[in-house]
Amino acid sequence: MQLNEQLYQLTQRHFGRSPDQCDDKQLYQALLLLTGQMAQDRPAPAGEKKLYYFSAEFLMGKLLSNNLLALGLHDQARELLASLGRDLGTVESMEPEPSLGNGGLGRLAACFLDSIAALGLPGDGVGLNYHYGLFKQEFHQNRQTESPDPWLEPDSWLIPTGRAFTVPFGGFELKAVLYDIAIPGAGNGYANRLHLFDVEEPAPQPWVGIKFDKGDIPHHLTSFLYPDDSDQAGRLLRVYQQYFLVSAGAQLILAELEERGFSPETLADHVVVQINDTHPSMVIPELIRLLTQRGLSMDEAIGQVSRACAYTNHTILAEALEKWPLAFIEKVAPQLAPIIRELDQRAKAASADPRTAILDTENRVHMAHMDIHYGFSVNGVAALHTEILKNTELRHFYDLYPEKFNNKTNGVTLRRWLEACNPGLSALIDSCIDPGWRRDAQKLEGLLAFQEDQAVLDRLLAVKQESKNQLCRLLWAAQGVELDPQSVFDIQVKRLHEYKRQQMNALYVIRKYLEIKAGNLPERPVTVLFGAKAAPAYVMAKRIIHLILCLQQLIDGDPQVRPWLRVAMVENYNVTWAERLIPACDISEQISLASKEASGTGNMKFMANGAVTLGTLDGANVEIAQLVGPENIYTFGAHSDQVIQLYQGEEPDGRSYRPLEHYHQPGVEPLVDFLVSPELLAIGDPAELSALWKDMKGKDWFMALLDVEDYIAAKDRCLRDYGDRRAWARKMLVNIAKSGYFSSDRVIRQYNQDIWHLN
Ligand SMILES: *Cc1c(COP(=O)(O)O)cnc(C)c1O
Repeated sequence: MQLNEQLYQLTQRHFGRSPDQCDDKQLYQALLLLTGQMAQDRPAPAGEKKLYYFSAEFLMGKLLSNNLLALGLHDQARELLASLGRDLGTVESMEPEPSLGNGGLGRLAACFLDSIAALGLPGDGVGLNYHYGLFKQEFHQNRQTESPDPWLEPDSWLIPTGRAFTVPFGGFELKAVLYDIAIPGAGNGYANRLHLFDVEEPAPQPWVGIKFDKGDIPHHLTSFLYPDDSDQAGRLLRVYQQYFLVSAGAQLILAELEERGFSPETLADHVVVQINDTHPSMVIPELIRLLTQRGLSMDEAIGQVSRACAYTNHTILAEALEKWPLAFIEKVAPQLAPIIRELDQRAKAASADPRTAILDTENRVHMAHMDIHYGFSVNGVAALHTEILKNTELRHFYDLYPEKFNNKTNGVTLRRWLEACNPGLSALIDSCIDPGWRRDAQKLEGLLAFQEDQAVLDRLLAVKQESKNQLCRLLWAAQGVELDPQSVFDIQVKRLHEYKRQQMNALYVIRKYLEIKAGNLPERPVTVLFGAKAAPAYVMAKRIIHLILCLQQLIDGDPQVRPWLRVAMVENYNVTWAERLIPACDISEQISLASKEASGTGNMKFMANGAVTLGTLDGANVEIAQLVGPENIYTFGAHSDQVIQLYQGEEPDGRSYRPLEHYHQPGVEPLVDFLVSPELLAIGDPAELSALWKDMKGKDWFMALLDVEDYIAAKDRCLRDYGDRRAWARKMLVNIAKSGYFSSDRVIRQYNQDIWHLN
C-alpha cells in the first residue's frame, strides 16, 4: 500500500478525518503509529550470539526523522506532507524529545543502537523507562531553574510487550514491566530493540519542581534519570534503580537464552553483555546469582559470566567512578552481598594489591574493579584515554590483565548527525561524491578532491550561511534572542562541568569586552554561543551559568560592545538543539583540561558539519588533529602528561599547580577580577560571583588559568584566519572529508571484531 493511502486510513481511524484536515500534532501521531508499526514488524537479525548493551542512559533524541530515514520513507513522507502544504520539520517539532540521558555517554549508547541495527547485528539495548528523564532547564534572573520534562504521551514509541519480571529487593519485591522501542536498521530489513523497564505503578502526576519522595521506591524508581544524589535517600534510590535495571535485564537475558533453546551452562557462547560505564555493574553478581539458582556451581557461574561481560570505561574523574557502601547493597539487594564478598575474596587471592580490591578497607564496593576482574574486556573510548587508563588510572589492573585492555575510539551516527540534521550539506556532498557515504562513511574522503574547486567551496560557505540564518530565526522564535548571522558563530555546547571549562571561554568573552570598551575593535563580529545544563546539586557549575548569563545581559545592554561581541546561552540544551546548533557552527569549542575528557563526541558532530575545532589535545581531539593535520585545527594548551604531573606535588592540596601565579599574570588578573567588577555586580548575585572569583584564583581545580592566555591567542588566530573565506572553506571541507573515521558504524565493527564476535 502507498504511504498516502496508509496515512489516510490511519488519520481516518484515529481522528475521523483525512490528513489535510489534521493539525501538525495529529499528523505527527499518525506518522508515529505508521513508522512505529513498520519498525516493530521487522524481524531481528539472526545469530548464534546476541549482544545486550546495558546502559543507565539512552539519549535517543526525537525518533520520527531518524526512523523515516532508516525505513527509507523520509523523502516520500516529506513530499507527501509538502503536497498537503505541510512541512515535515514542523510536524516533527510536535514530538517530545525522550531525554533519557545526561549527555555524551547516553548519546553514545543511542548512536551505537543505530549502528548495531544498521550493520544487521543482533543486539538490544537494556535501560530504564524514566518518566521525566533529565530535567527541563529554564533561566530566571540569570540562573538555571529545573522542572520535570515529561516525554510520555498516550501515543509514544514505547511498545508494551506484556512481559514482566519480579525484582527482589530487601524487604519487598517490585514487578519490572518491559516496554520496547524498535530500532530499525538503516538500509536493511531488520530491527533491534531498546528494552526499557518500568515499575508497575509509576507515581501519577507532577509535583513541585523536581522534588519528590525519594523514599517511595515502588512509585518513584523510574520517575527521574539520576535523581539528585546530594543526600543519602537520593544515593540509595540510584542503587535501587541500578539493581532494578540489572536484575530485570539479567532475567530477560536468561529467558531469551532458554527461548532460543540454549542451556544456562552455555551463556558465554550465546550472550555478550556490554556494560556502559559502571552504573550497570551489578549485572555481574546478579547473573552469577541467577545461574547458581539454575544449578551451576559458583565456579561455573563465575566462569560463564566472566566470559560474557565486557566493560567500557568513560571517565578518569575520581568522583565519577562509583563506589557504593556495601551496606547500601545489603539494604537494596541483600542476596548480592555474599556474592560480592566471594568475588572480592577471589580477586584478593589473585592480587594482593589493595588498589585492585573490590571491597576497600571502608567496605565500599568499587564497581569498576568488579567489572575489570570479572569481565573479559576493558575498553577506553579514545586512544589517549585508553593510554591514560593503562599507564596511570588503571595501571595496576593493566599489569594484572594486559590482554583485557583495548581502545575503541567513540563515534557518532552520521545518519542523524549529518544526513538528517543538515540536509543542505548532505545534498552538496551528494553532488560531489557517491551517496554511499551514508553506509560507508570513509567514502567522505572523496571530498578531498574538491579542495581547489572554487564552486564547491563557495557552495559550502553558502550552506553554512543558510544554517546560521536558520538558527537565528529559531533562537529569535524560541528565546527572543536576536543575533547577527554575519558574525562568526563560536559554539560551546555540552554538559556544564568545570573540567570542560566553560569558565575559560567566559574569560575570553571578558577579554574581548574589555578590549572593545578600551576602543580596540576586533577584526569581525563574533557570537559566542553556549548551551549547557548543570546538575541540580553542582553549585560551581550553576555559578558558571550565572556568570555567562550575566555577561549576556551586560553585553546586550551595551550599544558600544553589542555590534562586535555577543553572548547567548541556549535554554534547555538537548539533542534537538544540538541538531540545530551544530550545522550552524563555525568554531567548535573543545577546550577541556587535557586528560579529563575521555573522548567527547560533540567534537565529531561539529567536524562532520564543517566546523573547525578550537581545542586542547584531549580525548578524541588528538585523533581529529592527526586526521585533519595542523592546517585544519587550532590546538592550544598544556598536554595531558603535563597536567597529570601538575596533579602530583607538594602543595597543600596535593598538586604542584599554583593558580595564584597564573592569576597574577598581567593578562589574566583583570579578566578574573572582572567577575567582581561594579558592572557585573550590578547585574548578578554578588555572593555567587565572588564565590566563583575566589575559587578561580585560589583553587581552579581544572586549571582554566593555566591555559587561558594560550587559549585567547589561539582563538584570536582562528578569528583572523576566518577572514580568508576560501582558505577557511578548505578547512571546513577537509574536516567533513575526514569525519568518516568517527562514524559509529566503524566503532561498532571494531567492537564486534575485537569484543563481541557476533555472526
Ligand atoms: C553529543 C551530545 C553531547 C556530548 O557532547 P560533548 O561535547 O562530547 O560533551 C551532549 N549532549 C547532547 C545533547 C549531545 O547531542
